Amino acid sequence: MEQRLSENIKGVYRRMAHAAMRAGREPDEVTLIAVSKNVSAPVVRGAIEAGLRDFGENRIQEFSAKLLQLFLPAGYSLRWHLIGHLQKNKAKSAVELFDVIHSVDSLELAERINKLAENMGKIQKILIQVKLSDEESKYGILQEEVLNILSATADMKNLHIDGLMTIPPFFDDPEKVRPFFRELREIRDRAGKMGFDLTELSMGMSHDLEVAIEEGATMVRVGTAIFGERKKEAA
Ligand SMILES: *Cc1c(COP(=O)(O)O)cnc(C)c1O
Repeated sequence: MEQRLSENIKGVYRRMAHAAMRAGREPDEVTLIAVSKNVSAPVVRGAIEAGLRDFGENRIQEFSAKLLQLFLPAGYSLRWHLIGHLQKNKAKSAVELFDVIHSVDSLELAERINKLAENMGKIQKILIQVKLSDEESKYGILQEEVLNILSATADMKNLHIDGLMTIPPFFDDPEKVRPFFRELREIRDRAGKMGFDLTELSMGMSHDLEVAIEEGATMVRVGTAIFGERKKEAA
């Protein structure tokens, strides 16, 4: 088990490094986020022991239960990323539990997170989830709205908008996803010209991480290629 996990992790890092080299980028410009949804606490622990530090989860309840079972000794500095849809009524737990929230998809949610973070004395890092086509995950703001949301949140002192995230439609051929990744990068670059300093692009999963890295991903979210096939998720 442990052996397999560390081989899988090495394999993913190797794929990441090759893609970065092809694109003339440094491999350490890209963070590997291990998507540990539906993965048990002992296996997550194995991944931590194998050296991983960034983990992505998509459900608050599953994650808070898992966190208790992890029995983490002090001194591990881990970063937890919320990558699944966040309902407003769960925002408080999200701000308590997660270092980065990738799935902010409305101004109302951003406002709520800012307020909760203020109450907790925290600067919450977030990404804006962008929906680039009708076939995509049903959540995310439209690209026309990105600049509006950036302007509207600019004076929210307890939010730090690190960048953008997208979940493109699935294609067997990863080349077909390239235009989506490129689009997200272009939106970020346009926002940069308007004075919004967004560094992170959270895009790319197990089967298309190379293309995402070639197009500028700074965070790839990888589940299957590390932990193996998941059991079917209940939507
Ligand atoms: C599950 C999930 C992933 C990981 O997908 P794999 O294909 O298993 O690598 C990445 N991002 C999001 C938002 C997910 O829900």
